[in-house]
This record gives sequence, C-alpha cells and structure tokens, in this order.
Amino acid sequence: MHRLYLILFSAACLAAPAFCDEAATARRFEAAKRSEPELVAFLKGMPKGADLHSHVWGAVYAESILDSAAKSAFFIDPQSLAVSTLAKAGFVPTKDLLTDKRLTARFLDAVSMRGSRPLGSGHDHFFDTFHLFVPLMRPMGPDARLAEVIGRAKAQNVQYLELMDDVASDAAQDKALRDPPATNDLDQALAAMRKRFPALLADAKTYLDARDHEVAKLLGLQAPVSSVEAPITVRYVYTVYRLLPEAGFFADMAAGLFLASQEPRVAAVNIVAPEDDPAARRNFDSQMRVIDFLWNRLGKPNLTLHAGELTLEYSPVEPMRSRIRKSIELGHARRIGHGVSVAWEDDLPGLFREMKEKHVAVEINLTSNENILKVSGADHPFNLYRANGIPLTLNTDDEGVNRSNLTMEYVKATRTFGLSYQDLKELSRNGIEYSFLPGAGLFEAAGYNHPRPEFSRVREPAWQPDAWARALMAKSEKLALQVRLERAFVDFER
Ligand SMILES: [Zn+2]
Repeated sequence: MHRLYLILFSAACLAAPAFCDEAATARRFEAAKRSEPELVAFLKGMPKGADLHSHVWGAVYAESILDSAAKSAFFIDPQSLAVSTLAKAGFVPTKDLLTDKRLTARFLDAVSMRGSRPLGSGHDHFFDTFHLFVPLMRPMGPDARLAEVIGRAKAQNVQYLELMDDVASDAAQDKALRDPPATNDLDQALAAMRKRFPALLADAKTYLDARDHEVAKLLGLQAPVSSVEAPITVRYVYTVYRLLPEAGFFADMAAGLFLASQEPRVAAVNIVAPEDDPAARRNFDSQMRVIDFLWNRLGKPNLTLHAGELTLEYSPVEPMRSRIRKSIELGHARRIGHGVSVAWEDDLPGLFREMKEKHVAVEINLTSNENILKVSGADHPFNLYRANGIPLTLNTDDEGVNRSNLTMEYVKATRTFGLSYQDLKELSRNGIEYSFLPGAGLFEAAGYNHPRPEFSRVREPAWQPDAWARALMAKSEKLALQVRLERAFVDFER
C-alpha cells in the first residue's frame, strides 16, 4: 500500500513538478510556524510581490537619521531635543549625538517607536517623530534615503515598490505651489495651475533620471531602478498634505495628478497626514470634491488614498460611516490605505460589492496600526475583508519609525491570522496585480490559476520565454513583473 502511494505520488510529481515543490515548501512553512525566528528564516527569502504603501522618509531607520543629524552642523537641546540652526545657550552641536551615549539613546527613542513614549500615546509619539527628524535628514539626501529603503526590500526578495517620496526638486516644487490660485472658481484655478505644469514636469524628469542612476549606482545595479530590467523595480507616489488650506491643497493635488498623468515613474497620488486631525476631518468633503474635479480634467490618473485609519478613540463615528466609500466614489481611489474603520461604513455589503466590481484593493499595514491606533489581532478588519473577497496587500507604511520590515509584516499576518503558504502567495501576488504598473497582466481570470496561454508553462522549472513571450513582456510592465514573481517562486520552491 505504502509503495503504491509512493509510486502514485512520484507519477503526480512528474506530471506537475511545480505543484510538488509547492507542497513541500508549504510543509516547511507549516513546520516553521512554531517559532518567530523559524518564520523569519523562512519568510525573509520568500518572494514578495510588492510593498505598495511605504513613506520613504518614515522608512529610514533611526540609526541612519542619527548619522545624518550628526553631519547637519545644527545644534540640539539635550533636554527637549529641540533643533536650532544657530548656536544657543544650552544647545550642543548635533555631532555630539554620536559621542554622548545618553543623548544618543534619547534621540533614537524620540525618532522611532523603539523605546519610551514620553507622551504616553503611540499615535502622538509616531507623528511627532517626523517634526524632529525631517530637518535632520537633509544631509542624507534623496539617493542614500532611497538606497536604504530599496536595498532593504531587495534583500527580502521584494520585486516591486511604489514609494511615497519627492518626485521633483524642492525649488521646482516651491515654485509650482507658491501663491496658489484662489479656488472660488475651480476652472480658473486649474487654468492658472496649467501654466506652471511644464516647468514642474521638466524638473521631475531630470530629478527622477538622477535618482534612477544614482540609486542604481549606490546599490550596484546595472539598470535604472525604475526599469523592469532591474532586480527590484521602483515607482513613486506623489503625496499631498491633507492639512493644507483649500487653495494649497488644490494646487498640490493638481500638480500631483498632472505629473501622474504625464510621467510614467509617478504611478499615482496619495494624501498624507493624520486622518483624525480636526482640519483633516473638516476638510475631507471639500478635498474629495477637489479630487473629483481635477481627476476628471487631468486624464483620470491613478489614486490610492489613506482612508479609514481611524478608531473611536480618535474619531467620532460619523466620519467613519462614509470615509472609505467617498474615497472611492469621489476620490477615485483604486486602492485604500489602512481601511481600519471599515466595519462602521453604511451599507457595508454594498460597499464590498462596489469594491469588488471596481477591483479596489486594501493596503494592510499591521505594525503601523498596532503602534499608532492600538489595533491588532481580532480588533483588525483583516478577516472581515478576506471573508468578503476584498483583495489585500501587506505593506510596511513607515518601517523605519516602526522598527519593522516587509518580512515582519508577513510574519505578523501569519501568526495573527493563521495563514497558509498559499494565502501568503496570494497576498504576495496581489502586490503586483493591484499595483499601478501599466499593461495587460499575466492572469486571464480572477485568481491566479489561469495564466494566459502563451505563459501556461511559466511555473515549470525548465520554462524559458520564447520570442513571442518576450515580445509580450516588452509591451507590458505588469506582465513582466508578474512573470518575474512566478519565476522567483519557482526558484524559492526548488
Ligand atoms: Zn501611510
């Protein structure tokens, strides 16, 4: 009986080798679940489709901020950690951060979530870190900042990144957004902004060309980091600050949507800053109207919106009844960031139906939700979304401030929600399926079981793309990345 089983099993393996390798890998994964280090050892090398929700400034680790701060030639108050560009009584040069051990420790605590929370609230401590470290990160510059984040993802077998970061020089950005036109007549305001667009676009192209080459050089890569030829491919998401007054918000959103419609490396636009801030709450409806107006006039570019990063501790229930729906219907969000408050949305079954019809995915950020909102485990809507067929992706949000990385997000999801290896592969594949990469994808139907016919053997170890397959991949960046991910799984499971 046992021999018969072995013979049948071997025959099945010959018929479908990829399946057998996957089954063996899934067994290794199940065994690894008994401890976190075993899961880390397994998951750090597992191919991860993408990190679609990462703020680059918040993704830099405190230790790098420390090194940058020490080079800043600023002065710091060892008690309050206030920073000054000029020498002041009681302040010490920031280079002392490297030599005064107690100051080093206090600084690392203050610019990350690693240690004490003097304000008592993870939420307040988190958002305060940015006020302290942003001016001190100037000496680090954009290339080292990006290289840290991209290099870390590459080491964890992440295939693709959509990074929230600058996409143009500060000077060009300031010039495009200074003295924003009044918004009492939106058509006139847009006409005024259109005059500023060409200079901003030209600057963005130069700026992104420089990042493409300098970051590739720092990481020792042959191809520009935005190319699908690079081992990790990068796109950028333009961010608009949601606490700006209306005219400033309009100008910034117009600039972002224009760039996203014209420059392929700017994949989408998002809005940032605490969603529970009183101004964010008051301005939300008018901001959605502004987005709706601009989106319809600027070529309907991609948007992903932070929405529903709220709990009753930080928000009345009323905003939570429509925050996600309005972000999709008026804000035209193709992805929702966080979506923690979804259970409070009116007509929840109708919302889930609409999300499925429009292929809206949710960017899940587990560590961030735990640190900022104190939402974890069964308090998180992860299973509510999954039970209703909403596609999810795992992301880092601010891996530096949160002392996390994408591997740890996979570890956390596995341990919290009892996921299988197949579940994790689906989350990994969602990262590219719901990315903003252009072109036709690899899969013909919903789910990932039906690659288009030209790629029907893509999961067989010996598969090589023929000339026709190569031509198709050259025409679609999304297809090229999806094929790369499937091949990465073949290698991982071998
Ligand atoms: Zn975020």
